[in-house]
Amino acid sequence: MKILRTITELRKELAAHQNKKIGFVPTMGYFHEGHLSLMNHASSGNDIAVASIFVNPLQFGPNEDFETYPRDEERDAELARNAGIDYLFIPTVETMYPNKMRVSLHMTSRTDVLCGASRPGHFDGVITVLAKLFNIVMPDRVYMGLKDAQQFSVVEAFCKDLNFSHELIGVPTVREDDGLAKSSRNIYLSESERAQAPSLYKALQMGKKIAEDGEESCENIMKHVMKQITDETSGIIDYVRMLSFPELEEVVDKPKGKMILAAAVNFSRARLIDNVIFEV
Ligand code: AMP
Repeated sequence: MKILRTITELRKELAAHQNKKIGFVPTMGYFHEGHLSLMNHASSGNDIAVASIFVNPLQFGPNEDFETYPRDEERDAELARNAGIDYLFIPTVETMYPNKMRVSLHMTSRTDVLCGASRPGHFDGVITVLAKLFNIVMPDRVYMGLKDAQQFSVVEAFCKDLNFSHELIGVPTVREDDGLAKSSRNIYLSESERAQAPSLYKALQMGKKIAEDGEESCENIMKHVMKQITDETSGIIDYVRMLSFPELEEVVDKPKGKMILAAAVNFSRARLIDNVIFEV
């Protein structure tokens, strides 16, 4: 595995693989098994696997954790190598944004709900950095986690609308044994919060079961999920929503087709998000 830090170096390396299929995994680093699953998919499904580590300032709000976002480049490089990555791209902020952006990308759909509602500009920052990374790497396949289901949905619309030619592949959420979705931010949970955190996924699964058993009101399903999270954790619920997927639209009548039941809960130092996606 080679580590590249400049766009020129990475492009030069990739130019030597003209007719090869390139799989790409964009990340912010501090790898856990969720990231490794994406990388394993990229390396087993393509000739060349590229991953990037870039903590993108554009997608962090003024009161979010850009400065303190966990970083461990040495460990990440070892894990990426073991996961079959051929090229690990680790640019600096100056490399990605040598000047103030003169172009702005703005999502006009799928961002006014779920995390987008409380993180204005977040997804615009995400699509901006991805547009740059996609133009640098020119991948055939891009791997993203369904843990960040709204991100996946936004990126799907963004890639379709701008005619990027790669295939976007959603990879299922990797979880701890007790069900907690793996996340770089789980380290911020206190011991007691860590013990409560699996309730989030349990409550979502319970909601999914009620929907599958025939509950026709999304409102009732969301209420049950909220009650379980409130009863079992000290976290403060930001949202629990049941929407169509990947459109992320409200379903007025009874739920039908592909649906997402998603939740975000704020603990003292960590905001956890999780979801279940299913057909009814
Ligand atoms: P991040 O480094 O947090 O930006 O995540 C990089 C990629 O890993 C994104 O596509 C995430 O959706 C994905 N990811 C994060 N956590 C998980 C997980 N537990 N299971 C699967 N994919 C994940």
